[in-house]
Amino acid sequence: MTISIQASVGLHGDNKPEDVLVVKSRLLELGFPFVTADSVMGPLTIKAIRLFQAVKNGLNDVDDQRNDGRVDVNGDTIKWLQAVNAPRWQRMPVGSPEEGFINDNIIDVSDNHDFGTSWMADTLSATGATYKAQFLATHPNAALLHINDTSLPQGGDTPVHHGHEAGLASDIRLPRKDGNVGGIVVTDQAFDRAAMRALIQAFRAQPVSSRVFLNDQTLINEGLCQAVAGHNNHAHFEIKPPVRVMP
Ligand SMILES: [Zn+2]
Repeated sequence: MTISIQASVGLHGDNKPEDVLVVKSRLLELGFPFVTADSVMGPLTIKAIRLFQAVKNGLNDVDDQRNDGRVDVNGDTIKWLQAVNAPRWQRMPVGSPEEGFINDNIIDVSDNHDFGTSWMADTLSATGATYKAQFLATHPNAALLHINDTSLPQGGDTPVHHGHEAGLASDIRLPRKDGNVGGIVVTDQAFDRAAMRALIQAFRAQPVSSRVFLNDQTLINEGLCQAVAGHNNHAHFEIKPPVRVMP
């Protein structure tokens, strides 16, 4: 199906049925929640458009007014729907020791911050592979990359994780010198700073990496991360949208 529309779709849009069908079908194909392949416009489809816009705009707040809920004929949103590297909404990879990372959140069935963008999924996988090659290869007893919360299955507001709305951020548990993770803060003796440094370097080597939050003064002084309240016991890895590639 050609992803083009004759008039605007979404909030305050013209919403011609054939155009609505094109947009909804494409969002469904990309894995976005709330949509079915029909020509009916309503609040749930607008929610899906706004989540897609938050992703492509690199905004961690879906309710940001820049995510205006409307797809214009030659606007940025339709171009991202057409893009070769359009974001998909998906469950994050589970990982394995062979891949250098483990997604603790997928394993924890009591918490469902398991979803995010394909951009984040690819970045986490590549970070694990890089960390394995550049650090675990010579430090075989060090902790793996342990991923915790990304976003909820349908994105959007999440009470416990500010800034985790659009599948562009994941939390990382602190590596310990005993090869385990978590249950510590950065000032504890058990904190494996060398492993954390390598984890951040592996993440920052990825093309869409943007910000790392971690309140470790040594690594801040090295220019690897920044201090943000609440980040003494975990790191926060955040990505930005890639450059759009058109077909
Ligand atoms: Zn976070």
